[in-house]
Amino acid sequence: MESLKQRILQEGKIISPEVLKVDGFINHQLDPQLLMAIGVEFARRFAYSHVNKILTIEASGIAPAVMTGYCMGIPVIFAKKEKPSTMDNPYVAEVHSFTKEKDYTIVTGREYLKPGDKVLCIDDFLAYGSAAMALSSLIEQAGAHLAGMGFVIEKAFQQGGELLRAKGIHVESLARIESLEGGVVTFCE
Ligand code: 5GP
Repeated sequence: MESLKQRILQEGKIISPEVLKVDGFINHQLDPQLLMAIGVEFARRFAYSHVNKILTIEASGIAPAVMTGYCMGIPVIFAKKEKPSTMDNPYVAEVHSFTKEKDYTIVTGREYLKPGDKVLCIDDFLAYGSAAMALSSLIEQAGAHLAGMGFVIEKAFQQGGELLRAKGIHVESLARIESLEGGVVTFCE
């Protein structure tokens, strides 16, 4: 997605050869026009998947997910990083964050993810695939079907994309980064 790539080149900050900061338009300040264009693009790419729900993780996945849900006319569920005291017996999965070097648990209430649901997962970044695998586990626990996964930015030099595609998951990434070496963002292709 050209407008996204341009924005990453203009405003992305390379924190290390492994981590890209996009706080100016995705991770802290949000650009609604760009996020709507992202939603339109995901809706186009998954138009034939016949999904009826979108699943993401709080907090940074919510904005692109809700724009996609708006464009597709379907509800958006976000997995929570803390179990609310009012939530009984949720689906639970573990995530390891390589960027934050910690493990955390995500939960989703049983009433929103049901057997028979066809689910599209949306997230901001794909790195090693731990968050994506945790979302896939929540879907499996619910007896629902994972129809595909969309990422705003995929760091193709980390292993998540390979892992998910090897499992036969339909993965779409709007900007695929080949490298952040030398303080330069290089895109795939
Ligand atoms: P994974 O589970 O695929 O290793 O990492 C994905 C999650 O980690 C994303 O939801 C995102 O929040 C965070 N993440 C991974 N790499 C980056 C990065 O380079 N920049 C930012 N801002 N977040 C990242």
